[in-house]
This record gives sequence, C-alpha cells and structure tokens, in this order.
Amino acid sequence: MENASAVVRAARLFEFHTRFLWPLHRLWAKGKLSRRCRRCALSERATPLDKNQICAECLAPQKVTPLAPPNATETAALSKILADHEGGGQGRYDALILFSGGKDSVYMVRRLQTDHPKLRLLAFTIDNTFMSPIARANVLRLVDRLDLSHITFRPARATLKKLYRYGITHLNDGGGYGTVDFSDGEFILDSARALAAEKGIPLIVCGYSRYQVQDGLGLHSFESPPERERADRTHVAGLALSDIFTDSERGLWWRGSRWPTEKVARLLFPLYAWNLDESAIVRQVADWGLLHPRENSPLVTNHQLIPLLGVVDIHRMGYSGFEKEFCRMIREGKAPLKRWRAVFEFLEYTARTGMFVKPIILKALSDLDLTPDEVGVRFSS
Ligand SMILES: [Zn+2]
Repeated sequence: MENASAVVRAARLFEFHTRFLWPLHRLWAKGKLSRRCRRCALSERATPLDKNQICAECLAPQKVTPLAPPNATETAALSKILADHEGGGQGRYDALILFSGGKDSVYMVRRLQTDHPKLRLLAFTIDNTFMSPIARANVLRLVDRLDLSHITFRPARATLKKLYRYGITHLNDGGGYGTVDFSDGEFILDSARALAAEKGIPLIVCGYSRYQVQDGLGLHSFESPPERERADRTHVAGLALSDIFTDSERGLWWRGSRWPTEKVARLLFPLYAWNLDESAIVRQVADWGLLHPRENSPLVTNHQLIPLLGVVDIHRMGYSGFEKEFCRMIREGKAPLKRWRAVFEFLEYTARTGMFVKPIILKALSDLDLTPDEVGVRFSS
C-alpha cells in the first residue's frame, strides 16, 4: 500500500513538474541533456540529427504517413465482423475485451457499446501483482461506470516476477519497453486467448494503437492472422520461454495447437482501423466524464515497474524505449510536440539525478531482488 501511494505521488510530482516548472528548469539543465529533433523530439542517442537538428526519420518523407482519416475500408470490414457476432455466440459472451482502465480501452468499450449494443462483452483485466491498489480501484470504478461484466486474473507473483526480472536483465534493442513491457502485453494476450478458448468466446478485442500493432506485433491489419492464433508460444520479445520458466509455468502461456480450431478466438485491434489521434481519445473520454486528462499521465499507470523501465533505458541506451512510439505520433500530427518533449527531457534528467523517483526505483528493484548495479543504474545525487 505504502509503495503504491509513493508511486502515484511520484507520478503526480513528475506530471506537475513537466507541465509547469520544466519549461524554466530546462533552460538551466539543458547542457546536461541529449539534443532532440526539433520536429519530433527524438533523441540524438536514438538517431543522427542533421545540422538543423532534424532527425533522419523526419527527413525521410516516404516514411512519414500523412495524417490519415480513419480507414473507411478497414472500419467497415471490422464493423461487419463485430455485427456478425452480436448475440451470436453459443456461450454467454461474444467478445472478450482487454480492459486496463487506460484511455484506449475505455474509449474502445464505450464505442463498441454504442456501435454494437447487442455485442455481449466480457471485460478482462490482468492484475500482474505489480498493479497498484489505486489502479485496481480505478478499473473497478470504470467497470461500474461502463456497466460491464468483468473478470480479473491474478497469476502467482513468482511467475511474473521471473518474467520481469529476466527481461530487465536481458534487454533487447527496444529497451525495457520493448522487452519487459512488451512481454507483459504478450502475457496478457496469451491469458485472454486461453480464457476465450476455455469459455467459448469467439472474439478477443484489444486496444492497441496502430503503431503498437505495426511496430510491436509486426502486423499490418486490424486482425491477427488465424495461423498465428493457432500457434504455440515459444518466445517472447526474443527471449526463449524455456530459458525462463519451468514446464508447468510455461503452461500459463498460449498453446494454440492443443485447442480445436473452432475454439481459437479471432483477435481484433479496433484502434488500428479507427486510427485516431491520441489527443482526440483523451478529449473524448474526458467529455464522456470517464477519465480526467490528468489520469493519462505517462507515469500514472497500472504497472508499477514502468518508471523503473524508463530509468533503466536512460542508463542503458540514453533514451527510453517508449519514446519512439510517441515521436512517431508527433511526426504524424497525432500527439503534441512540446508536451512530450518535456516528458522525455525530464525523464532523462530525473533518471540521472533521481529527482522524485529514486525511492520508488529502489523499491521496484528490491521487489525484483535486483540491485541498481545489476541494471546499470547510478543516481548522481
Ligand atoms: Zn524528427
């Protein structure tokens, strides 16, 4: 409990500082920070900058997707699949919807309820045991507000701790975000796959953004290919499960080949088709009175290890793995430059000085039985 409130308090201080104080503070701290692209805020540690301080990504026009309206063909195809399943399943539910309580999942639920009122939804939350009581209470509050049937799965802590501990000491090129946070997301998807098969739910609906689907999962559609859904999980984020887990622990991951084809759910990513601005989603869930914009702070999260991942990334790579996704959204006009530049810069500053975050970083490390040295973190103050 104590740690949970400390994480939220640190997140609020971080949020306040980046919004109101950092614009001045940065003038004094600037010399100690990496330079960033003037258009998208990508760090020079992630990409070379030219003499005008513009990054290679911004200079490669063929890579920049113009601000596109929702793709009408994709939206229509998605809508048809959802309509075909309204009230159609043999069991009690038509769609298992991944529900984190974050803005994307809240938006998705509300829109599905409006567009497909007969679709029988079961909301599904994973409590990864590193979820704060405040985040847990927030999920339940939203479940009530949205009038959802809801189920929480809380696996044994030792299993997840093994995953996070191994991941953070075996980072891939994507850093903590690409390794630990990504593995966590894959574990959630696998848990949903198993639950849908066990309960005979024909659809799984996941609120990943277009970027997360493309760059994270390597897919270019709002639906995961059926052959992928039928396959067994052997690796996650480039790590072999057999190097991390015992045989019985591996049973918690998806084994599609053990299920008859008709029991394997279709996995859909509606936000891929809808292709919305980040700010439009923030505004809409606020207009609905469901989530205050303040609750979308990058560090106010369900997962208490996120601040640690950011700090470890800064020490290992010079920038945080989660930045690239936001820089791309900035480039595509889907996220505000100044706001996110302040977050990235202050994260870099605080990762080195420990300002606001040092106690929660040390606590998170001790929860994983790790020392700062083992993950390459050293605070200057
Ligand atoms: Zn750029």
